[in-house]
Amino acid sequence: MSNQVPRVAVITLGGTIASVPDSKGNDAVPKMTAEALFDAVPQARKLATLTSHSFRQYPSGDLSLEDILELAGLIEDMAQDQDTDGVVITQGTDTLEETSFLLDLLLTTDLPVVFTGAMRNPGLPGADGPANLLGAVQVATNHQSRGLGPVVVFNDEIHLPRFVRKMHSASTAAFSSPNAGPIGWINEGRVRVPLRPAARTRPVPRELVASSRLPRVALLKLGLDVEDSLIRLVLQDGFDGLVIETFGGGHVPRQLMTSLAKAADELPVVFASRTGAGELYESTYGFPGSERDLLSQGLLSSGILDGLKSRLLLTMLLAAGATRDEITQRFQQYLS
Ligand code: ASP
Repeated sequence: MSNQVPRVAVITLGGTIASVPDSKGNDAVPKMTAEALFDAVPQARKLATLTSHSFRQYPSGDLSLEDILELAGLIEDMAQDQDTDGVVITQGTDTLEETSFLLDLLLTTDLPVVFTGAMRNPGLPGADGPANLLGAVQVATNHQSRGLGPVVVFNDEIHLPRFVRKMHSASTAAFSSPNAGPIGWINEGRVRVPLRPAARTRPVPRELVASSRLPRVALLKLGLDVEDSLIRLVLQDGFDGLVIETFGGGHVPRQLMTSLAKAADELPVVFASRTGAGELYESTYGFPGSERDLLSQGLLSSGILDGLKSRLLLTMLLAAGATRDEITQRFQQYLS
């Protein structure tokens, strides 16, 4: 970063942070401009020269994988042009754990890239958007953020996309990283990053992903006494991959094994835990439908990734033409 005032590009994607309620205070929809967001945080303008890039104005559930691929291209172009010192992305919280993870898979730049959003829209008492935006600018302008890859800044905490999850539907402390905790925090404007990860994850080549049809990867979550018809539908419908959120450390009801083994013969099938935290077992249980059984039938372990992130990683790896061995290794990289 230069000695001059840092230049931060704020890319807005919509969401609650940019949503305006109707005259009765209800039915908020994303339509605020970035300039209006900046006006609510004069402190951020003192820290950096902010430029606004209105990229999408969506509720975050409407964002697509293609949108995020395009966003990755925009940020790499900014890095090339060398006229930006950091990037802040504001968006809806509903899918933030996925978009930040996807961008982490795709970006190679060392530029600080910080995601944030809000749980309370600007029309509500205690709206958290301005504080989150200020925190994001503080992190984006801090030298410790360079080379970290994308991070999520929320409620004065700094989270890594590989761990972070939205774990509450309404709380302003909705984001947590159950497997690791936040890697840092902000206090009185000071950015602390005591838990810098040993390495960044290896990116998936964006050109390969962008030049191919995006694979369709299904995500199924198991419940008590489920039947196997959905697995059969996934095969019939021509999906390219399947992620299955299993019980506990990697267990399924025994009546699913025939369909799962058939699925694993035809396409990559990754199993994750529906618990949302912890690493999968490899050799603790040996009953039909245990982790041992799943592995021996050719299913691939997600290691520590949850189902949502596993679906995105598998999609990107398939788009880049990864082999089965490469897929196995890429899931393992999150364990070291
Ligand atoms: N509730 C969401 C939010 O926090 C809506 C969305 O994800 O766009 O922004």
